[in-house]
Amino acid sequence: TSFGFKEVPEEEKSKLVGNVFSSVASNYDLMNDMMSAGLHRLWKDRLVSKLHPFPGMKHLDVAGGTGDVAFRVLESINSVSRRAMQDGLAETEEETQIYICDINPNMLNVGKKRAIERGLGENHCLHWIEGDAEALTFEDESMDGYTIAFGIRNVTHIEKALAEAYRVLKRGGRFLCLELSHVELPIFKQLYDYYSFSVIPAMGELVAGDRESYQYLVESIRRFPNQEAFARMIVDTGFEKVEYENLVGGVVAIQSGLKL
Ligand code: SAM
Repeated sequence: TSFGFKEVPEEEKSKLVGNVFSSVASNYDLMNDMMSAGLHRLWKDRLVSKLHPFPGMKHLDVAGGTGDVAFRVLESINSVSRRAMQDGLAETEEETQIYICDINPNMLNVGKKRAIERGLGENHCLHWIEGDAEALTFEDESMDGYTIAFGIRNVTHIEKALAEAYRVLKRGGRFLCLELSHVELPIFKQLYDYYSFSVIPAMGELVAGDRESYQYLVESIRRFPNQEAFARMIVDTGFEKVEYENLVGGVVAIQSGLKL
């Protein structure tokens, strides 16, 4: 089968996304590094720096199966705590809680395995939860922060995921989304199109033995709303101070908003 440029029926989309990530879970790191030339690490650093994590925060990282974002949030909080302790400011240990929610147990297992490799297997701050971005199991106004990296493009109803993000955030809580986005600069756009439509599926075939899944990923980027349209959706959800930052000319964008 070829997913081509056909619209994928909604009920098939969730299943398809599930298959894609089951199939890519084991090759996930390698493919990410190859496709982005290692840049996804810097993009995730940037995302977390915009979150301004703090000790004692309750944070939710959705579609976070690999732990990539959660580990960065934890590192950032630990370094803030260390500095505060050195300055003699921290007296009590704050109860930081980081929830990693993903629909795919295989991806969560990738993250849990990596937590163990990093010596974080027993870490009480990290909670791995199987769940759907569109129907979160967390209580209203329970989170200080919400992140979603390279995940919202895959959910069936983006509006529902945004509404859920809004619901679970406390007043003053920050929404941040890192996503592959749209390149508009003419020559760069042509190069990028060539790269995405020719190089990435070929790389997928070569490295992961799976051309179709990567072709699907590329097509899902094209179907995703551009930066302005997505920012409007975030505003329509109720978020304020909505803004976005393009990285590498819009190859990726970080959207942010506050629940006030
Ligand atoms: N955030 C991680 C990162 O940046 O390395 C993983 C990104 S991966 C490209 C996309 C993830 O979204 C997969 O782990 C997939 O299982 C998850 N996902 C897809 N649809 C989802 C949904 N409706 N709810 C929660 N997670 C979902």
